[in-house]
Amino acid sequence: MQVLKFGGTSIATATNISRVLDIVGNAARKDRVILVCSAISGCTDSLIRIGEGVIHYQDRITELEERHQQIITRLFTGVQRDEALEECRGIFDQIKQRPPVTEAFGEILSTRIIARKLACDGIEVQWLDSRKIIIKDNLEATYANIASAIDNRRAVRVFVAPGFIAGDGNGRVTTLGRGGSDYSAALFAAGSGAETLQIWTDVPGIMTTNPKDLPQAYTIPRISYESAWRMAEHGAKVLYPPTVEPAQKAGIKINILNTFDPDNAGTVVDDFPGEKGWIGLSRKDDCIYLITAGNVDKDSVRSRINGVLDRSCIFWDDIQFQDGIVSIKVQADHQREALKGLHKEFFELEPNRTRRIFIAGYGAVGKSLVKMIGDTSRIVQHNSGKTLRIVGVSDSKRYVISPGGLMPWEVDDALASGSDASGEAFCRAITGMEPRQAVFVDCTDSETIYRQYEALLEAGISIVSSNRRSLAVPYEDYARMKTAALHSGCFLRYETTVGAALPFLESIAMSANSSDEILSIEAVVSCTLNYIFSSGESFKDTLKKAQSVGLTEKDPRTDLGGRDAMRKLIILAREAGVHLEEKDVKIQPVLDESFFTGSVEDFYAKLDKADLHFGRNQRFVASLVKDPSSPLGYRATISVQTMDESHPAYWLHGTDNAIIVRSAFHPSPLVIQGAGEGAKVAASSILNDILK
Ligand code: ASP
Ligand code: MG
Repeated sequence: MQVLKFGGTSIATATNISRVLDIVGNAARKDRVILVCSAISGCTDSLIRIGEGVIHYQDRITELEERHQQIITRLFTGVQRDEALEECRGIFDQIKQRPPVTEAFGEILSTRIIARKLACDGIEVQWLDSRKIIIKDNLEATYANIASAIDNRRAVRVFVAPGFIAGDGNGRVTTLGRGGSDYSAALFAAGSGAETLQIWTDVPGIMTTNPKDLPQAYTIPRISYESAWRMAEHGAKVLYPPTVEPAQKAGIKINILNTFDPDNAGTVVDDFPGEKGWIGLSRKDDCIYLITAGNVDKDSVRSRINGVLDRSCIFWDDIQFQDGIVSIKVQADHQREALKGLHKEFFELEPNRTRRIFIAGYGAVGKSLVKMIGDTSRIVQHNSGKTLRIVGVSDSKRYVISPGGLMPWEVDDALASGSDASGEAFCRAITGMEPRQAVFVDCTDSETIYRQYEALLEAGISIVSSNRRSLAVPYEDYARMKTAALHSGCFLRYETTVGAALPFLESIAMSANSSDEILSIEAVVSCTLNYIFSSGESFKDTLKKAQSVGLTEKDPRTDLGGRDAMRKLIILAREAGVHLEEKDVKIQPVLDESFFTGSVEDFYAKLDKADLHFGRNQRFVASLVKDPSSPLGYRATISVQTMDESHPAYWLHGTDNAIIVRSAFHPSPLVIQGAGEGAKVAASSILNDILK
């Protein structure tokens, strides 16, 4: 025997009922069926109001009768239609008397219609009167009644029984409580010794949280009876809590399925020995409940919850641990936000370790990154447990998105046949997907792409950027991106923007976070100028060489004029908590103003005539120095400085970068130096930001 139960939404219209009849027909081909149904959606509410005799209850009766008539008219034709309408009228005549327990008629209406339809379709059907069979609070009598109702009718293929309603043992009608049809189904299953109990509803099984609260919710494929009960008891509406016990006692699996997506495997509820970890999140009254199986480390859970709620600025009262349930008291109007953060922490980040990567910009860095992901995926998986998947790539003209993932070697071809569109369209396509565990990587040098950052972060997508133009934006915009990242719980990382793979930003953030007082930062971060100065050769020739190997920006004067160094200094300063803007940085360009007008060719021509000499002892230094007299508390300058051997930057080679930080904690300076450029180095730094 199989018991199939359908809820009110599943049978709300004739179209839905047809769907249900297909499912039941398929099941009946395999084995006998007991079909338990709710009233059509909204019907029980209306009947309760009618029974109470509220104003306009007559109108409610008319409306409800019309809904049922409409269903009948759609499902039946000819004499059968007349008979069904006649029966419906008879039931409504009783409803109009407003007898005690008026709400009991909803399930009678729905199941009489469905049983009649099955009979019309040639199936051997028997309608069962649950009012006589299910005796409230008397399992023994109930099970005996079910057994005899079935045993006497061997030829019947499908029994149809109203859910929700029962008898009280003294000949009076009663109900099993709101949502009680699930419980009726479990009783029929236990009483008939059924092999399966299927609860068909309008969501794909028991989900990590209510999908109406949070679209990120996903189906729990298997759950123990205990955990299912805990979820239901603490607010998960998908299952009526008393349903679990009879099924568990009889050892019957409960399968929760979606009428509107019947091929989805939904959730299986059974013993599930060895169930572990986080099960789901539910909410009820003033609490959010985190349901767990197995032991949890209370201190660490408490601190994770504190972290999540703190980040979202949500106040909570109390965290308690009891019987596999962590309860958190949160004000009703903050519950959704709290659910979002907690779901992310426990159900998105933890179990799902795939990083879905979207790469904007397919130049030297983007290409290196794609190749590196291909080369290192196994090592990454081994070392971090994370799987990297390239899901989208864009260049300046096209983009391609492949939700199933692209192999690194497929990217070129995929991009060549991708959609013609801007980076902005790429970002919009990504946010529209609402991908989980996604990282957007900005390897472009676009001045405008940062405007998409906020929307990406708000859609739950983290960002790793090597594009310093995106971070050296007006402070207000920068702060907005940071806030968006904090609120969404996603990260915005950009270590690559200054000194490529060198951990400059990280070490400054470390000082800032540990309330160390930064006295000065000297940053030797212009690869081009370091290259020229440390070569000791002709300015022009070395510059040309630097340009030809792709070291300089497109117009090398961006480097010489200090704009590039300025962007880096802004990013560094902000990491130190200084709200630096472009206008606050005093730049002394390497060359005087006359070099900065005209084309790049003019510029090289001018260089021929100029008599420029720079020595190995010179460096283009961007510095931030504590200065209580300036409004920001710091002075920011960029200029060529002559240094002697005692200065750490004196010893820099080639394109190497260095940062020298003096702080209260580091009176003898913290010096970080090393390779400051190169596509591979940049790609490795991006990868590190993704995996951190
Ligand atoms: N029709 C009843 C209710 O709405 C029972 C059920 O649908 O499970 O509460
Ligand atoms: Mg229900």
